[in-house]
Amino acid sequence: MELEQGEIVGGFAHNQVMQLADKVVEAVKSGAIRKFVVMAGCDGRMKSRDYYADFARALPEDTVILTAGCAKYRYNKLPLGDIQGIPRVLDAGQCNDSYSLAVIALKLKEVFQLNDINELPIVYNIAWYEQKAVIVLLALLSLGVKHIHLGPTLPAFLSPNVAKVLVERFGIGGITSPDEDLKRFGIL
Ligand code: SF4
Repeated sequence: MELEQGEIVGGFAHNQVMQLADKVVEAVKSGAIRKFVVMAGCDGRMKSRDYYADFARALPEDTVILTAGCAKYRYNKLPLGDIQGIPRVLDAGQCNDSYSLAVIALKLKEVFQLNDINELPIVYNIAWYEQKAVIVLLALLSLGVKHIHLGPTLPAFLSPNVAKVLVERFGIGGITSPDEDLKRFGIL
């Protein structure tokens, strides 16, 4: 029995995005792309993960999703269209390809001559589920990325002290509802 229908455009690992770099940078400079939203991470069967489909659907049309991992199955068949030929979902591949998302962020930082990766117009709304996603999170923290939003719930294995450090030093936070989060994350 067919469970799903739709088309998926993939293959946007960093090599491919770098080939489109001029186009991407131009779209950012002209304001055609206002924000990138990293919606990478895991998927699961809980109803609470519908949040990610609703959030993707509610994103303004001048935003581009950067993704890798299983979280994308929540929204990658939605008709989100493109911005000047750049698909609104740039899918780097599986979770191990999250490396590509970091390379893209670092390249944008270089192109825009920024001192701090947090000055980029990138919002992080990451769905976690298991250990590998936690390793990806640690990699982002080691790059100095702040204000990462994790959902649908914060990992239960975080001890109160570790959670405190993550919140105080890295501004890590949870999620609420798509409408509320679009405002909280500065997307609307
Ligand atoms: S860690 Fe597992 S569930 Fe998470 S993105 Fe990778 S393959 Fe998917």
